[in-house]
Amino acid sequence: MRGTVLYGPRDVRFEDREDPRIEKPTDAVIRISATCVCGSDLWPYRGIQKVEQPMPMGHEYCGVVEEVGSAVKTVKPGQFVIGSFCISDNTCPNCQAGYQSGCQNLEFMSRAQAPILRVPFADGTLVPTPELPPDDIIPSLLTISDVLGTGWFAADAANVKPGSTVVVVGDGAVGLLGVVSAKLMGAERIVAMSRHEKRQQLAKGFGATEIVTERGDEGVARIKELTKGIGADSVLECVGTQESMMQAIQSTRPGGSIGYVGVPHGLQLDMWQVFFKLVRLHGGPAPVRRYLPDLINLVWDRKINPGKVFDLTLPLEQVAEGYRAMDERRAIKALLRP
Ligand SMILES: [Zn+2]
Repeated sequence: MRGTVLYGPRDVRFEDREDPRIEKPTDAVIRISATCVCGSDLWPYRGIQKVEQPMPMGHEYCGVVEEVGSAVKTVKPGQFVIGSFCISDNTCPNCQAGYQSGCQNLEFMSRAQAPILRVPFADGTLVPTPELPPDDIIPSLLTISDVLGTGWFAADAANVKPGSTVVVVGDGAVGLLGVVSAKLMGAERIVAMSRHEKRQQLAKGFGATEIVTERGDEGVARIKELTKGIGADSVLECVGTQESMMQAIQSTRPGGSIGYVGVPHGLQLDMWQVFFKLVRLHGGPAPVRRYLPDLINLVWDRKINPGKVFDLTLPLEQVAEGYRAMDERRAIKALLRP
């Protein structure tokens, strides 16, 4: 087969790779129905995260099981499955506590921007859909693998409750699906911080009640203005920079919560500042596996349509164009179909 490999900054190749096969009894091999480019793929693509050696890419995936190892019990060939970007056994104490992204056997998926994929710990990582899905919901099912699962975790970690006032920092796919999540959790006001027209429209369609275009201190001042000087109950930090995290901390009311899911890059917290803000901080890589069954049901029953974040669809072999379009912010998120 051919698969996606990143060689260095802005050097994505779709090239010959060895066909994945069952290596351990707990493995499954799946034929990918859809995969995509993640905002976090842009960090190494832009050279901000160093690429030491050619890196097989892709961690968002769904598809049909082709083969399973002898120890796999919960998925079988022919089933359509969705997996988390975190590979987990789903049996260790951390998994049992609902933190599969802290699994004692944790691995991060890569190699998914390819037509065929080996998934380790298939029982602990994959969840099948009730039956084979109609083609039009496949993009929405794919989002559960990472961006929806991560947006959901951000809202959950930020303790969004019915009636909450929520601020979402970041207008990438995760931030936009954080809006979807906050809405489903019953938030009364959802403020999306975005200065891009297309993303503002999508955020509103997903349930945002207000848009703030200002950033930094001016952005914080706007949030304070909108909340009678108090700040938001819950803030979803979906970027991972110094500016976005400080914006999140300063936009939260005393006793409020921040769910942070942006992978931190060059971010350092001044605990003196944080101490007096009286905020709760919870975040990290999302335990998507915990949310998979419920999120599959929400998409399956067409209660949400998170697949709308894909504004570009390409054949998988044009994956390099998907990276370019997202890097240049011509696309929010690129869907790839083998
Ligand atoms: Zn585990």
